[in-house]
Amino acid sequence: MFVHQRQGSLEVICGPMFSGKSEELIRRIKRAIIAKQKVQVFKPALDDRYDVSAVASHSQRKHEAIAVKNVEELLRNLDVQTQVVALDEVQFMEEGLIPIIEDLANRGVRVIAGGLDQDSNGEPFGIMPILLAKADYVTKLQAICMVCGALASRTQRMVHTGGQVLVGAAEAYEARCRHCHQVPHASGEKRLIEGD
Ligand code: ADP
Ligand code: ZN
Repeated sequence: MFVHQRQGSLEVICGPMFSGKSEELIRRIKRAIIAKQKVQVFKPALDDRYDVSAVASHSQRKHEAIAVKNVEELLRNLDVQTQVVALDEVQFMEEGLIPIIEDLANRGVRVIAGGLDQDSNGEPFGIMPILLAKADYVTKLQAICMVCGALASRTQRMVHTGGQVLVGAAEAYEARCRHCHQVPHASGEKRLIEGD
């Protein structure tokens, strides 16, 4: 017996900074290219940490990408022949991307979206919770906690300025486990259950 697999799906790769999301995205892109599929890679234009026209990992692995300012620009650049659409740093992309992803997947495109599931306060980041709910496949990666060496699912901001988006500077962030992660001025859950 065999399982009939129809094409078109949404894969989400999430986790904190340094967990290997970009490496995993690049790995899937390379394998799709080996399989002779037409692949297009997009990333939000605001993230120019390493390269304006590439998806780059902290371990210097790279793949070329089209930097787009908004969904209109993404749609303008989308080729009808494309079989695999890869998106990096998807937490920075706007809500309008969600119906586009759904439509692509429904029309047989394999969509692979990588991004931070939590911001540095440990809260759901942008459109990521919606994409996670809508995904066919979810990969949640972990980094190594820079304080205790345990598996890390959170991102600690080391510089306390700006809003939710502090683009760039890997040195401004550190991977942390739940116990070593600290939220500045948290009114927080942690305190509510203290003394249990
Ligand atoms: P992400 O896209 O999730 O930020 P990357 O794919 O860019 O992650 O980088 C992952 C690489 O970062 C690892 O393979 C490793 O070389 C490096 N790295 C640096 N700090 C850490 C850490 N604290 N935990 C795990 N990997 C780390
Ligand atoms: Zn820790």
